Amino acid sequence: MLPMTDDFDLETLAIRYGYDQTQEQENSEAIFPTSSFRYRSAQQAADRFAGNEAGNVYSRFTNPTVRAFEKRLAALEQGQSCVGTASGMAAILSTFLGLLESGDHIVSSRSVFGTTKALFDRYLKKFGIEITYVPLTELSAWQSAITPKTKALFLETPSNPLTEVADLTVLADLAHDNDALLIVDNCFCTPALQTPLTMGADLVVHSATKFLDGQGRMIGGAVVGSETLIEEHIRGVIRTAGPSMSPFNAWVFLKGLETLKLRMDAHCERAQRLAEWLQAHPAVESVFYPGLASHPQHDLVAKQQKGPGGLLSFRVIGGREAAWQVVDATQMISITANLGDVKTSITHPATTTHCRVEPEERLKAGITENLLRVSVGLESFEDIRTDLSRGLDALL
Ligand SMILES: *Cc1c(COP(=O)(O)O)cnc(C)c1O
Repeated sequence: MLPMTDDFDLETLAIRYGYDQTQEQENSEAIFPTSSFRYRSAQQAADRFAGNEAGNVYSRFTNPTVRAFEKRLAALEQGQSCVGTASGMAAILSTFLGLLESGDHIVSSRSVFGTTKALFDRYLKKFGIEITYVPLTELSAWQSAITPKTKALFLETPSNPLTEVADLTVLADLAHDNDALLIVDNCFCTPALQTPLTMGADLVVHSATKFLDGQGRMIGGAVVGSETLIEEHIRGVIRTAGPSMSPFNAWVFLKGLETLKLRMDAHCERAQRLAEWLQAHPAVESVFYPGLASHPQHDLVAKQQKGPGGLLSFRVIGGREAAWQVVDATQMISITANLGDVKTSITHPATTTHCRVEPEERLKAGITENLLRVSVGLESFEDIRTDLSRGLDALL
């Protein structure tokens, strides 16, 4: 058998990398739902516990199914190491617990996942970490927010829901010039469309719950980066504090990765068509999607991403009432704030994902009352369009 090296293409790695067949010679990956492992002798137990012998100890630390997922995702992101976590939030928490101490400062894009912001403001601040929020695409704001205590810059690109795109190479240089790390939440693109580590980012965090699973089944997360950062700073937090990925979830994510490229390409294809159709609809005021020529960072998208992604948002003509009318007229699309599923979903950010943001802040961030976000799934394009046109046509 050809050894599975990371010289293979992404599609191949996503299907075959990171798994060691057992003596049963299975073709599909086995799952190891075991909390602990047996040692052959007292000596071996002692060696494993002391870390003198590599091998399994206890599934909060190590599990063969979780390890296969970690190796595969690391290969896809082109990182040296990966650690799986119980959720995307656990990935972000463990990263900062591992890297920061009281008195440190981080600069974060203001357009990050709402719970990430709550984690920073309610919990990290409690332990003496300072956070400054900046507009994602304003380089000068990032520059002037950095202090001698800044340890990391944190962002999502494209942003949710307005799909703004940050220049990763530029921000990586800025971080490194200031002895800080660049940490990217790569949830929306996944390594099928964007590999931040190859553009200078130091760590990638994931909510595996979204496109990595891709079918809305499991909660999980991961952190990917250099062996030093992951093994010396972050894995220990998960082993000790315990937000570990379950073997069963890891197995589902492994299966999800196998179709990642295929799914992401299909999400992009449908989202592109939907964005173009929405842009031409008379009841639509504006559309935000990285694949449109009207997108403010269209050139950067072409350079940085292999595809525009599955997420778009648009403003209808009117206010909250008109936007809600479009949501409520759907008959197939799921009304849910979740994303990255084969099932198309629609949400009204101002009253769901961003409802806890102060109204003034929300407006500054562009989350207007007439804005809707769609995570474009893999149903037929015609059926998605028909479902959205029910409410949109009624606005005319
Ligand atoms: C969902 C999400 C998270 C959190 O992930 P969970 O798996 O729900 O904990 C973090 N970042 C982004 C961008 C997300 O969409």
